[in-house]
Amino acid sequence: MSTIIPAKGVFINNRWQPSSSGKTIAMIAPATGKVFGEIARGTAADIDAAVAAARHAFEKGAWGKLTATERGRLLTNFGRIVEKHAEELALLEATDTGKPMKQARADMVALARYFEYYGGAADKVHGDTVPFMDGFLVNTIYEPLGVTAHIIPWNYPAQMFGRTIAPALAMGNATVCKPAEEACMVPLRLAELSVEAGFPEGAINMVPGLGEEAGAALSSHGDIDFISFTGSPEVGILIQTAAAKNHIGCTLELGGKSPQIIFEDADFDAAVASVAGAIVQNAGQTCSAGSRALVQRSIWDKFIAALKAKFETIQAGTPEMDLDLGPVISATQRDRINKMMAMAERAGAKVLAKGKIADGAPKEGFYVAPTIYYDVERSSEIAREEVFGPVLAAMPFEDEEDAIHLANSTDYGLVAGVWSKDGSRALRVGKKVRVGQLFINGYGAGGGIELPFGGMKKSGHGREKGFEALYEFAAMKTLVIKHN
Ligand code: NAP
Ligand code: MG
Repeated sequence: MSTIIPAKGVFINNRWQPSSSGKTIAMIAPATGKVFGEIARGTAADIDAAVAAARHAFEKGAWGKLTATERGRLLTNFGRIVEKHAEELALLEATDTGKPMKQARADMVALARYFEYYGGAADKVHGDTVPFMDGFLVNTIYEPLGVTAHIIPWNYPAQMFGRTIAPALAMGNATVCKPAEEACMVPLRLAELSVEAGFPEGAINMVPGLGEEAGAALSSHGDIDFISFTGSPEVGILIQTAAAKNHIGCTLELGGKSPQIIFEDADFDAAVASVAGAIVQNAGQTCSAGSRALVQRSIWDKFIAALKAKFETIQAGTPEMDLDLGPVISATQRDRINKMMAMAERAGAKVLAKGKIADGAPKEGFYVAPTIYYDVERSSEIAREEVFGPVLAAMPFEDEEDAIHLANSTDYGLVAGVWSKDGSRALRVGKKVRVGQLFINGYGAGGGIELPFGGMKKSGHGREKGFEALYEFAAMKTLVIKHN
């Protein structure tokens, strides 16, 4: 893009308004390292205004008066509008994050699907009748929480918007979102497009800015009722602390070190393709990236030979080149990943294979050659910590017990895949792996919109996606009616 996209401000009450800071943040395209736009640097005062707008929309405005069916229709409309603008949004997302165009297009399909799914679900959340004493009728009712805060990361800005905002709106909450400073052009455009979908003022408010400024102001705000956060475990602690101080709930989705466990009786070719694909998707910047390949010793040599051959065909390039992966998000992330690779090599890990950075990928872009390590010490950093880049640790295991032990030997617990044609073995092992999502003979990196998703251990708590997400954004009221 030749011209720079100007900052529009902060989006409150269906209008762009200047940020009280008057300052902007430059947006850098990871594929080229060049500035392609600007966003407003939102402040605590902007957050105050956004929360007040959401509160008004929820309690007194048109939004709070809509029926569940009417909310569902707005969400469904929004999905159609996303489809109408899909190519424009995909191009913006690809520029902002560096991801290949085919992936950005797939992200827009998922985004539209979030609104379609939760549009259909909005009027289907209902409570129960509880048997109680004679002379009583007892019902449970799900109600919206009120004003929900949404702090989202840069890896999937569009999908994350759909994943967290759509279920909150479906339940009738009014929302305030702080997108990530590294990539938020699509969420900002979506806020604007929500007006076209018919959302009344104050339902969707968006304040771009810095995490420690706008993000901290939002998460510690005294007039929010819930926080939905996806990002790093470190910031997750700050979010949970802020929520505790206001006695409100939060969901935390904090990443992982997710294993694919390959037994000797696995569908070999399918497993090789899945292991290679699940670490290069989104340049490894996926919370549920398959970042550990655990392979049974009896097929180890054959498996890593096939994996090496497959991996050496993988190429990173610009969005327009549309190869297997793009650059990583920033120079900071690239340097962090390179540092972790240097550390792995110092700890004795050996390079099994490296993908290529395509000729013609700009030197100023933030490219990392995808890398597989073997001879990985089980206790080393590369075996246990999230890289958030296209770096895979491959490790052999002996038997079922060893596989389970190794799979559970990180602080994380997000996703796992178990590959075996013996269904009983796959279930025996899979049931003992402590994760929020388990794939057998496949690996979905987070899975579809319909599939509840979330972590155990340091991967966080709460569930997003599927019907479960609606309950996170709801409060249950128990109605007790006495009659004669
Ligand atoms: P991060 O700092 O946790 O960012 C996530 C979101 O939190 C962003 O919107 C960020 O704003 C905001 N934030 C930062 N500090 C905050 C604070 N004090 N109070 C409230 N909100 C705050 O993640 P990152 O720095 O972008 O990435 C670092 C690492 O986090 C990655 O290497 C990766 O390991 C992990 N990560 C995980 C996921 C995931 O999907 N689970 C996604 C992204 C990153 P700013 O954008 O302004 O910082
Ligand atoms: Mg940050």
